[in-house]
Amino acid sequence: MLNFDFQNPTRIVFGKDTIARLADLVPASARVLILYGGQSAERTGTLAEVRAALGERTVFEFGGIEPNPAFETLLRAVELVRAEQIDFLLAVGGGSVIDGSKFVAAAVPFAGDPWQILESFGGVVHSALPLGVVLTLPATGSEMNHTSVVTRKATHTKAFFASPFVAPQFSILDPVKTYTLPARQLGNGVVDAFVHVVEQYLTYPVDARVQDRFAEGLLQTLIEIGPKVVHEPADYDSRANLMWAATMALNGLIATGVPQDWATHIIGHELTALHGMDHGQTLAVLLPSMLELRREAKREKLLQYAARVWQITAGSDDERIDLAIARTRAFFESLGVATRLSAYGVSADAVDALVAAVEAHGMVSLGEHGDVTPALTRKVYEASL
Ligand code: NAP
Ligand code: FE
Repeated sequence: MLNFDFQNPTRIVFGKDTIARLADLVPASARVLILYGGQSAERTGTLAEVRAALGERTVFEFGGIEPNPAFETLLRAVELVRAEQIDFLLAVGGGSVIDGSKFVAAAVPFAGDPWQILESFGGVVHSALPLGVVLTLPATGSEMNHTSVVTRKATHTKAFFASPFVAPQFSILDPVKTYTLPARQLGNGVVDAFVHVVEQYLTYPVDARVQDRFAEGLLQTLIEIGPKVVHEPADYDSRANLMWAATMALNGLIATGVPQDWATHIIGHELTALHGMDHGQTLAVLLPSMLELRREAKREKLLQYAARVWQITAGSDDERIDLAIARTRAFFESLGVATRLSAYGVSADAVDALVAAVEAHGMVSLGEHGDVTPALTRKVYEASL
């Protein structure tokens, strides 16, 4: 096991009717900004519940944070916070709203050019406004981690930063809030959580048995409940299990003491930035090709994945790995998430620009071995067509 230093400060309040708990979770004297996305939070009645729970507090609202939140939009929220001397941020939404709110939290007290927050991967962040979350879309784990992904629309740059200062103080997770999600977002959410686990689990073994078995438990849970979540609406138990699995998949716990990959996520960002694909869709397309092309470096763990997650025990080593990758692809397809770029209208003539963008962003030695070079990245995009 590798050395690690683990702390997660986010308080989780989980279950039905928990939005009312905002009444005691948000300081009574706070000047609060509710941040939300497009229409869903208003339409589903979530915003009304939030407003009611905040009672007599001074409350401002900032809507319009788009999926893959735009730097340009978030700067307008920063201006509002400064102008109104707001001192508490409340994100109501999915990963995009939470990530956007983390950026606002860090940018408000930051004196320099706010893009430096992303350019430095969060290194320049030394303080942030307090942040609370009401989660409406289980997928990213952003509700219990200190990472944020922001897109600069002007340059088609999707960048990320991490800082302990932007970890939410609390997150409210009510599985009932997922009932209004369209199948597309549910499928994306299951894929995102699954690939988060894979990025931390399918690396070279370091005898981290607890982390491996937690990871395998999360993957098995997602495999069991995934199709039910997508195809059977309003089933509380499967939604509750999804919500907690997605949070646990990326809250730092299974990352402790293990090598981490993240190449699939990073090269997926270019597909969103250049072609507008949903985050989950990029992962469903790229992961099977990524595993196929890195099967030698990942051989030992792929065999463990085949045996323990998919119960594949017959056949040669290569046959078992082939079958595990095929089952992974079939699982994503069963969730209604297509696993070929052609399904999203992205063809071979797009590959040069994708690889150029990866290089331009300095993402030239990715993965747990640093061996995912632009040449290998090109092969992954090509194998995903
Ligand atoms: P999202 O972009 O936050 O939301 C997708 C869509 O779902 C939005 O159009 C939203 O509609 C709708 N929606 C949300 N909750 C809903 C509900 N309860 N009912 C109906 N519709 C609802 O999706 P996401 O997958 O959670 O977040 C993706 C972003 O997170 C990407 O930018 C990705 O790169 C990032 N990410 C971050 C991390 C991290 O650790 N921070 C990890 C992985 C990915 P409205 O806009 O109308 O509300
Ligand atoms: Fe993700």
